[in-house]
Amino acid sequence: MTSSVLLDLEPLTAERFAAIERRVASLLHTTADVVITQGEALLPLEACLRGAARPGSTALNVVTGPYGQTFGGWLRDSGATVVDLEVPYHTAAAPEQVERALAEHPEIELVSLVHAEAATGNTNPVAEIGAVVRSHGALLMLDAVASVAAEPLLTDEWGVDLCVIGGQKAMGGPAGVSAVSVSDRAWDRIAANPHAPRRSYLSLLDWKERWIDAGRTALPHAPAQLEMLALEACIDRIEESGGLEASFARHLAAAAATRAGVTALTPPAEAGLRPYVPADRDAAPVATTVRVPESLDARELVSSALAAAQDGSPALPLAAGGGALAGEMLRVNHYGPDASPGSVLRVLAALAAALRSAGVPADLDAASAAAESIWSPDQ
Ligand SMILES: *Cc1c(COP(=O)(O)O)cnc(C)c1O
Repeated sequence: MTSSVLLDLEPLTAERFAAIERRVASLLHTTADVVITQGEALLPLEACLRGAARPGSTALNVVTGPYGQTFGGWLRDSGATVVDLEVPYHTAAAPEQVERALAEHPEIELVSLVHAEAATGNTNPVAEIGAVVRSHGALLMLDAVASVAAEPLLTDEWGVDLCVIGGQKAMGGPAGVSAVSVSDRAWDRIAANPHAPRRSYLSLLDWKERWIDAGRTALPHAPAQLEMLALEACIDRIEESGGLEASFARHLAAAAATRAGVTALTPPAEAGLRPYVPADRDAAPVATTVRVPESLDARELVSSALAAAQDGSPALPLAAGGGALAGEMLRVNHYGPDASPGSVLRVLAALAAALRSAGVPADLDAASAAAESIWSPDQ
């Protein structure tokens, strides 16, 4: 790439910025205001929670993976009392559990929830949980960074008040900008919170005042221009490759093929690789987490698989699990351009090689056939 492509650009106009916002709103199926935050997705997630939670209020934090843990910290920091609803990370939160928590704590005003967790590979039933939260009257904040473009995301229909996305997962786009939709109820709540960030990079109210209410005619500060153009380009690419439905189908197939493939690598009677999230229903289309047998260390297996795959082809979308799960779990990040048969089959081949060199027999033919049958069901 020549540097002029990156450097000698026309300024990004307010009009173009607003047009990109409208396209993000349509990805989210929302008529609410959308703010494209000029930083990675943790920026709007923190901005939402610090804006909506206030001292003396109570929030329900649904924890189904590491991001939920982070949200609990921000909520407590904002002075809110936090009720944590933690479910095992290889399952999903059930609407009944949320209903019970709300009934036990009628004072709950805000619920934070992650849609899909790329780190743990599970996905939550947001439509059902959203209905429960709406009938209680609380605000719902959803982290949809890992679900957008990988599975349906119906912000308005599901009653999501604050819906946060990032471009870096299934959209196959930039990590340096992110977006949040803000319902009227959420704006009212944040505006009524004397502790909501103001005159701050974390302030959604600043965007409302200086950008939205001012008619979207002048940007409040210099935009992250390259990242905005990359966001626009990745939305173009999604549209040109069949739209959201086609993107959902690619991610769903990649997840199903990975689940089938890793299971078939070792016979059922042997201790081998198994999907970390046992129920298909709870498995996120964006990424597949895999439990490694107790005799092996996931970090070593991943390094060995990555080394086996170093043949000049693109980087393998494979990583060891994070934090406490690093020894026992690995992740296949089959999202964006890697939501494809080629990427999944390369991961299976590398895992087969790594298993064999660790002394575990692996049947790559069976695994490849199981994965390929997902794309060609009549085989
Ligand atoms: C990826 C992801 C984010 C963004 O965090 P990074 O670790 O910085 O990529 C936020 N929430 C969820 C659920 C994610 O999967």
